[in-house]
Amino acid sequence: MSFPETRMRRLRRTESLRALVRETSLEPGDLIYPLFICPGEGIRKPVGSMPGVFNLSVDEAVKEAEEVAGLGVAGLLLFGLPAEKDERGTGAYDDEGIVQQALRALKASSAAKKLVLIGDVCLCEYTSHGHCGMIVETRDGWEVENDTSLDLLGQTAASLARAGADIVAPSDMMDGRVAAIRRALDEDDRQEVPILSYASKFASAFYGPFREAADSAPQFGDRKTYQMDGANLREAMREIDLDIAEGADMILMKPAMPYLDVVREARRRVDVPMGAYQVSGEYSMLHAAFEKGWLDRDRAMLESLLGIRRAGADFIVTYFAKDAAKLL
Ligand SMILES: [Zn+2]
Repeated sequence: MSFPETRMRRLRRTESLRALVRETSLEPGDLIYPLFICPGEGIRKPVGSMPGVFNLSVDEAVKEAEEVAGLGVAGLLLFGLPAEKDERGTGAYDDEGIVQQALRALKASSAAKKLVLIGDVCLCEYTSHGHCGMIVETRDGWEVENDTSLDLLGQTAASLARAGADIVAPSDMMDGRVAAIRRALDEDDRQEVPILSYASKFASAFYGPFREAADSAPQFGDRKTYQMDGANLREAMREIDLDIAEGADMILMKPAMPYLDVVREARRRVDVPMGAYQVSGEYSMLHAAFEKGWLDRDRAMLESLLGIRRAGADFIVTYFAKDAAKLL
């Protein structure tokens, strides 16, 4: 049947009709809010390129978490800015590390501990060179060494779990890290802690503002030898298959908006829960347009999140989590 028998506008006539036939939902409980934890007390340092995002000391992070929990947001993804960095990223797997301290403080708050607390597992925020793994000298200069990095990533995951992380989320893109982390967790008697792997993480220009927020820019070179080439969809599916085979309980896709086809294809292929990370650059470019008055802030924000859900993400890591939850 076609026009005039079929009229698509019939079901768009009122808000109640539109609500009845709406295919995709967006709830505060679908959202994860990233926090950047820094040393000190009473610190709330704005990140210049990300309006509304701060480096927070542990006490301020607890206050922020309590507010976020009150809004019904699902959880937090924690990144750390250590007081000191070194070649081996010691701060990542130190039981007294900055994120470990934050996890213990959050678990001590009756409001904040209702949130799912996710610890990012990587070395780049903690290494003096800013790469996600160990650097070795080679004949051609240097390289990020895969296998020696695995042990440190495993130690990081176990340390975060001991401090109270409900989930650990490796973002480093070393080969074999999911299996190494599972082994490290199990040897530490943390069989119950799930792994959310950043299974397909592309080398993206959209991470730019994050590197200011997390002070994690590589001091030399780039991350193209471990993060994926943005041109490759089939390779992303292989990464996902491998991570699941190694024991990933959930996967995370990153970035989100420029890679919605990858999110879609992953949803079609795998049954594990899947999130997508609306990364710093996606947030910052929308904010720049809001500041210029070129886009309606509330509508554009929610539409960007709805698009990611519609592509197939069960949950979204987003710097908009708090603002979106207030509207939903
Ligand atoms: Zn990293």
